[in-house]
Amino acid sequence: MKRYDVIVAGGGMSGVAAAVSAAKKGCSVLLVEQSGMLGGQGTQGQVNVVMASLHRFYGFGLQLMERLIAEGSAWLIPNPAVKGFRYYPFYGEKMKLMLDTVLAENNVELLLHTKIYGVQKDGDRITSLQLAGCGGNFEVGGKVFIDTTGDAMLALYAGDEVALGDENGDVQAPTMVATYAGIDFDRYEEFLKTYDDGKKVPKINMIHDLIPRAAEAGVVSGVDLHHPGIFRHSPTAESGMMNAGHVYGAALGTAEGLTEATVRGRRQAEEFQQFYRQYVPGFEKAYMASSGTLAIRESRRLVGRYVVTFDDKSNYAKFDDAVMRFDGGAVSDVHASSSSPAAYKAYLDLYRDRDKVRADDWATLPYRCLLPKQTSNLLVAGRCVSADRKTLGQIRLMSYCFMMGEAAGMAAAMAVGTTDGVAADIDISALQAQLKENGVLTV
Ligand SMILES: Cc1cc2nc3c(=O)[nH]c(=O)nc-3n(C[C@H](O)[C@H](O)[C@H](O)COP(=O)(O)OP(=O)(O)OC[C@H]3O[C@@H](n4cnc5c(N)ncnc54)[C@H](O)[C@@H]3O)c2cc1C
Repeated sequence: MKRYDVIVAGGGMSGVAAAVSAAKKGCSVLLVEQSGMLGGQGTQGQVNVVMASLHRFYGFGLQLMERLIAEGSAWLIPNPAVKGFRYYPFYGEKMKLMLDTVLAENNVELLLHTKIYGVQKDGDRITSLQLAGCGGNFEVGGKVFIDTTGDAMLALYAGDEVALGDENGDVQAPTMVATYAGIDFDRYEEFLKTYDDGKKVPKINMIHDLIPRAAEAGVVSGVDLHHPGIFRHSPTAESGMMNAGHVYGAALGTAEGLTEATVRGRRQAEEFQQFYRQYVPGFEKAYMASSGTLAIRESRRLVGRYVVTFDDKSNYAKFDDAVMRFDGGAVSDVHASSSSPAAYKAYLDLYRDRDKVRADDWATLPYRCLLPKQTSNLLVAGRCVSADRKTLGQIRLMSYCFMMGEAAGMAAAMAVGTTDGVAADIDISALQAQLKENGVLTV
């Protein structure tokens, strides 16, 4: 069996950041990814926009986006419509290449098309991962493991406490995000300018005013009140990421549920293509060039040694073991689980309440949120970190996933070097000093 200092499970943005960060500290690192590409929701899910706080995006993720910008594959767009945010739209294909490149540059070993289906444990430690690859099943051994699967799969396999969605197990609805080509953005933007619904909602909502008409005409099968819409790939591109349609009531904790939601999402994506072509100026000749795997906002998460809460966030809590800074205030993007008007109103009330964000202050994520209660050589980062749902509604953004991954990778390297793999025993102030050096904690 091959053995590594650190094994990272899942190659989304948090996993790549974790792997590179541990490798930069001299560890032998393996990253295992079940799909054929790196980037997770950002590439497989076709979510081609890194959203970042104006004040809190640093470290590996920012450097990566700056490299993509320098080669003309990503852009920085301050977003005047949404206070406190900047957007980095990027080309998904270029992101895939860049993520391959950074792993190779840092000597991270990579297994694609390889699914982790279990762990072997000795007492409170994971000793190896059970993998299914195209050559059959096999195992790899490691000293420290990082779970960046988005679904807290390693924590689940290891028997640690996890949670799914809200108290009823309902999750934020996923979306079948798609790439549209052939859009006349001048015409579309002109159309947006002419519209004033007096509701003080983002202009895009004019489109969701058209959706009931399309539902009546049978073009779409239901009225979805929430419509994020198109995100242009670049300031001049004729293509963009279409974020339309929520798969409400998806049962994302089971294989059957994920399958059903995927099939339903694909049908919805086709309906929205018809809707845009028929109802939205600028989209007459547009077409869906591709759709992703179902893009998942929320599924299973860790219930770790600490669960960071919305109160912590809103009160700008400063923890002694902080490993990341993020915006305090009320900003949170928790999409509804059902299509009811009440669920949409609850979403909007939370989303619009942005006025408490302060540029000169921040909330913090404690290191304990990365640590399961039982398994001693496991760290969890990204959208399955230990946080309540409203807080995850903010820190699931890719910018924060990069930073959490970076912290987890650095901590894993310290555990390999100094504590015989026990993640909870590392010197937190030494970890914080290293994170400050990389900018993740500094500003
Ligand atoms: C519709 C939608 C729109 C969004 N919009 C934005 C946005 O505009 N801007 C923004 O910044 N963020 C946005 N987000 C959030 C963001 O995309 C995600 O929260 C983030 O990408 C999660 O990254 P991650 O690395 O934690 O997890 P993921 O991206 O989910 O990566 C997990 C990886 O682990 C792999 N994996 C899982 N299980 C296994 C296993 N058993 N074996 C091997 N590999 C496994 C998966 O294949 C995947 O590659 C959006 C999300 C969605 C769904």
